[in-house]
Amino acid sequence: MAESAARRHDVVIVGAGPGGYVAAVRGAQLGFDVAVVEKEPTLGGTCVRVGCIPSKALLESSFLYQEAMGSFAAHGLKAQVELDLEAMHARREKVVKQNTDGVAFLMKKNGVTVYRGTGRLTADKRVVVEGEETLELEAQHVVLATGSVVATLPGVEVDGETVVTSTEALTFTEVPPRLVVIGAGYIGLELGSVWSRLGSQVTVLEYLDRILPGMDLETAKEAQKALKRQGLEFRLGAKVTGVEVSGGVAKVQVEGAEPVEAEKVLVAVGRKPNTAGLGLEQAGVELDERGRVKVDIGFRTTAPGVYAIGDLVPGPMLAHKAEEDGVALMEQLAGIPAAVHYDLVPGVAYTEPEVATVGASEETLQERGVPYKKGVFPFSANGRARALGHTEGRVKVLAHADTDRILGVHAIGPRAGELIAEAVLAMTFGASSEDVARTVFAHPTLSEVFKEAALAVAGRAIHS
Ligand code: NAD
Repeated sequence: MAESAARRHDVVIVGAGPGGYVAAVRGAQLGFDVAVVEKEPTLGGTCVRVGCIPSKALLESSFLYQEAMGSFAAHGLKAQVELDLEAMHARREKVVKQNTDGVAFLMKKNGVTVYRGTGRLTADKRVVVEGEETLELEAQHVVLATGSVVATLPGVEVDGETVVTSTEALTFTEVPPRLVVIGAGYIGLELGSVWSRLGSQVTVLEYLDRILPGMDLETAKEAQKALKRQGLEFRLGAKVTGVEVSGGVAKVQVEGAEPVEAEKVLVAVGRKPNTAGLGLEQAGVELDERGRVKVDIGFRTTAPGVYAIGDLVPGPMLAHKAEEDGVALMEQLAGIPAAVHYDLVPGVAYTEPEVATVGASEETLQERGVPYKKGVFPFSANGRARALGHTEGRVKVLAHADTDRILGVHAIGPRAGELIAEAVLAMTFGASSEDVARTVFAHPTLSEVFKEAALAVAGRAIHS
């Protein structure tokens, strides 16, 4: 290690993903001298480089392709469309670069020092950065924001070629004739959709008897039906026990069933906290039984002066949750009372139609014995949806039977991921279904489906 003295900052953040870089910006705004440590050549973390952003770019491109192949004629448009996968990938890379450059700009603009290299804690809570040179950093507050890594399956070896993770599934240079997706969660359904739209025969193998675990069941079933209509095949209750690869073809073994063959296999069975090599043990940072960093309500780990946020700690592994963690932590360090509404973290699967959710599902309310009323309204009765030619789906509002306070909103439909923001906002302010029902919504908009679902809670939807 270099003999030079440690460099001092008020806050050192390890990891420049949505948790880390947002914390850095907020910390700088609050007057802290902030540094981030990042091992990848570009900033933004998994979400920006190889997750949310590139997958959304491909989802948009493949959606347009599908529209051109299927829906243009209904609009009175005649077009000859051909897939240029190389150009589609070039656009994806451009979109990613705009975002990673954007994060670098934000660091500069806010005076955040960026150290390139792999960060590791020492026993005396310094951060060693191993990059082109080795540096030591010292800070009053050290924030761990290293995110998560792909979870693997016993018996399934990811070779990065035939058996891949989401990272490689973003960059296939040819459309695989057959793609097996293991896991019907967010990643499996989004990337399964991309390649299905571009021509792959996609089979989704899911261990549970349902897709999108945790999401409101009725809404998840609607999503499965919609995806099935688009050509994705689902095998539920399918436990994958191994994969054999020979001559570029994989044979996926499923317990008690025939193996499934495919040119590519995407393993999308979840993610786990990225704690390896961080020096947690010698620094006294303890993990829980699921390998997550133990933190209290103030993101404090078991090592004084060391904090953890985002995918490293309990809660949904979502970029926006990590961002809110980062903001709340910095504000707390600056003496501002701040908290995250963990009950109101929305989830969005960017399939077609999109599936979006916030708050409690019907199953959760039933389990907890909470009395509720339900209002449902379909997009098929919405003028804007008809004009768009996308009428699949519905919005469901769940409100407390006695107080009418909204407890959950579950939507499947065109741009449902945008619509859910209104529900989150309403719920953040403790709205009742009556409050939403009495709000003026512009006409014609897709959002009116949310208003009508709120009206439907009291049995007075107008357009159905
Ligand atoms: P996930 O947890 O959403 O889904 C994994 C699925 O794999 C589950 O349905 C699980 O039952 C299934 N599974 C587990 N073991 C299996 C086995 N042996 N055989 C068959 N199926 C099995 O995980 P993911 O889709 O990999 O996503 C990882 C993380 O990234 C999640 O936390 C997710 O929230 C996040 N993410 C979010 C978005 C989004 O918000 N749009 C997009 C991508 C990823």
